[in-house]
Amino acid sequence: MKTLRGFRDILPPESDVFHFIEEKSREIFNIFSYREIRSPTLEETALFIKSTGETTDIVEKEMYSFTDNGGRNVTLRPEGTPQIVRAFINHNMSTNYVPPFKFFYIGSMFRAERPQAGRFREFEQIGVEYIGNATPFSDAEVIILLYRLLSSLNIKDVLIEMNSLGCDKCRQEYKNALTRYLEAKIDSLCPACQRRYQRNPLRILDCKIDREKIRDAPEIDLCSTCNLHFEKLSNLLKKSHINFQVNKFLVRGLDYYTGTVFEAKSSELGAQDEVAAGGRYDNLIKSMGGPNMPAVGWALGTDRVAILLKDKVKINSEKRFFVACAGENARDKCFEVLLNLRKNGVVADFSNFEASLRSQMRTANKSKSSFAIIIGEKEIAQGMCILKNLKKGEEKQIPLVNIVEEALSVMEKKSHDEDTSLRRSE
Ligand SMILES: [Zn+2]
Ligand SMILES: [Zn+2]
Repeated sequence: MKTLRGFRDILPPESDVFHFIEEKSREIFNIFSYREIRSPTLEETALFIKSTGETTDIVEKEMYSFTDNGGRNVTLRPEGTPQIVRAFINHNMSTNYVPPFKFFYIGSMFRAERPQAGRFREFEQIGVEYIGNATPFSDAEVIILLYRLLSSLNIKDVLIEMNSLGCDKCRQEYKNALTRYLEAKIDSLCPACQRRYQRNPLRILDCKIDREKIRDAPEIDLCSTCNLHFEKLSNLLKKSHINFQVNKFLVRGLDYYTGTVFEAKSSELGAQDEVAAGGRYDNLIKSMGGPNMPAVGWALGTDRVAILLKDKVKINSEKRFFVACAGENARDKCFEVLLNLRKNGVVADFSNFEASLRSQMRTANKSKSSFAIIIGEKEIAQGMCILKNLKKGEEKQIPLVNIVEEALSVMEKKSHDEDTSLRRSE
């Protein structure tokens, strides 16, 4: 049996990379006061039709939707924002919780896309939502948060591309201008764009096939309020030394965005250079039946980031110990020492105390352990053990009662001369 096409097992050490990204995220979310909402994987299909939007690629053709045994139309979540909004409304969080309303989520999303390098049908996302603040400071905060996270993950050349889709008024005027511009070109555009032309002409700007044909499309003419908001955001990002640029063709493929939209890119990823994306959605909460509250957020593709980190994160770089046993009557003592080491926080392992010492040492060397602790009947009689440095091949005798202390001091030493969390592996 194999996994389904587009689905996969994430094995160690790759799973360590995912864990590392999640840990870093949680650490930084805590600093910025974002708290976790853990949502269900399965939702009513209507949730995504109403929020993500009927004209989006996601809802049109990418959702895993089915009828369950109770006859309900359900969908494996394709994105996290609609769930956070639903939870915010369901639990009446605007009155039951104290603002600011800042949330994050970490989990699998599902989209039936054509599988290709770095793209899976079940993929991991980490996202944040900041609800209740309409000012450019909240846009700036979430972008700075994203930038800080990517920097702390040691991703190079991060560029934020951003644009403003304006308020309802300037967006409607823009749609009209765009429709007029596209009228003469519509027959030459791809079938998807011909559909979009009727329902959501903005999406045509996103089309990778027709990009060249619409190079001279008009730019959005922001009203003074929207312009001021975007200017202020730009200034805040400049002051924070965020590497960003304005891309007038950036519209994002979701229906609920209003005002600021952005993407984070890294040149390290090559052609598929987008690692995260987001924007404002000031109308979504109200349109879903909640209070009239603005919001802004983003989602990061963990799988993409994991590709970038695969070769440069050195995880579990602490010194590891391997307990090897020589002789039948030493086994219980070895096990006792092993458990005692672990109890005191030493990373220690063993293989098979009943195997020959030679075979255990072979395993120790393969297991990337730094040190072996060898205990035989002779050593026990003397109250000693052998501590062997597996890299250097040196060994010394130490009293058994001192082994925990010795192991801890060896681990300690390393944290001074090695960066424990992140290292280039070259
Ligand atoms: Zn406006
Ligand atoms: Zn097109």
